[in-house]
Amino acid sequence: MTANAIFTIPWRILPKWLVGDRLKILMYHSVSDNPRDPHAIAPDEFTQQMKILRSKRVVSLREGLDYLRDGCPLRNVYVITFDDALLDFYTTALPVLREFGYPVTMFVSTGMVAGKAVWDTFDKTKPTMSWKQLEECQGEQVVYGSHTVNHIRLQECSDAKLADELETSLIYLQKRLDVVIPALAYPGGYHNARVRLAARSVGYSCALGASSRWGNGPESDLFQLRRQSFIV
Ligand SMILES: [Zn+2]
Repeated sequence: MTANAIFTIPWRILPKWLVGDRLKILMYHSVSDNPRDPHAIAPDEFTQQMKILRSKRVVSLREGLDYLRDGCPLRNVYVITFDDALLDFYTTALPVLREFGYPVTMFVSTGMVAGKAVWDTFDKTKPTMSWKQLEECQGEQVVYGSHTVNHIRLQECSDAKLADELETSLIYLQKRLDVVIPALAYPGGYHNARVRLAARSVGYSCALGASSRWGNGPESDLFQLRRQSFIV
């Protein structure tokens, strides 16, 4: 471990992390056979991970937030989230999730539905789900949150653009779908104090970042919830 890495350890939460008393929010994007894609997990590996979760407690994001608020024990408690509403969620991940019956929160960029993942750094041609497919998933324990309208870096937006990306996406999701939670996943995980304040002002109840190994506890800032891509 380098000297710099030592400074990044959140010492205050380390004891709880060491005994596993943390809410772990898993983050997935693509479930597909493409080993070079940093945002993809192979279908077999995804199925294996879902099997491992059988020995844990998988709750919805809303329940997870209740657990944090109420100070419940968090050992082995997991939340499953997906970003980007890619078509392979519908074709590949959903059949596996159906088998296990886990609740899932999907974060959708409303301007990118039935299109392509043009923001993706690895493959800008990945197809996204249609509104009809998003509607269908609602009967399968899938609820929706916002991933903005255009999947852009929010800290680089003007105040007006920032408010529009946050507000329009949530309003549109609520209009088109029945099971929407006022939760936001920051595109690329990028956020700062201005972005977090804007999300709160627009009416979100929480917002999620990208990879961090430290999990969440009662001390967590609900607008900086940590997500991880591995199960421990
Ligand atoms: Zn994304």
